[in-house]
Amino acid sequence: MSEPDCMFCKIVAGKVPAEIVREGERTISIRDINPQAPTHVLVITREHYPDAVSVGRADAGLLDEMACEAHEVATAEGVAATGYRLVFNTGSGAGQTVHHVHGHVLGGRGMEWPPG
Ligand code: 5GP
Ligand code: ZN
Repeated sequence: MSEPDCMFCKIVAGKVPAEIVREGERTISIRDINPQAPTHVLVITREHYPDAVSVGRADAGLLDEMACEAHEVATAEGVAATGYRLVFNTGSGAGQTVHHVHGHVLGGRGMEWPPG
């Protein structure tokens, strides 16, 4: 299912352009329009789910696919060996601005913990 007003549904449908770095059967991975690290790729489900919890509850296998895709992206981007961060902002208070599940793959620079 897709949501008519959802930006990522539009990207999945090809109605809004994006730099696609990897395409899977149930996911696509696109470069973030406002990168926060040398590698900043978003792993997005083709179907609309509002967040990681809802996709996990509906289809745990799909959440697993997202994690595997994130690792494939990190490997292709050359950041898997040094380490990368896979982030699911969940809820507006945590900084989620696009309410279509996406995993941020961030790498290529040092990362602090806890994040700001
Ligand atoms: P959130 O804040 O929801 O966790 O992350 C949303 C991310 O999507 C942000 O990092 C933002 O830069 C990115 N983003 C928002 N709109 C677009 C877009 O139209 N195209 C691409 N490629 N990234 C987008
Ligand atoms: Zn959507």
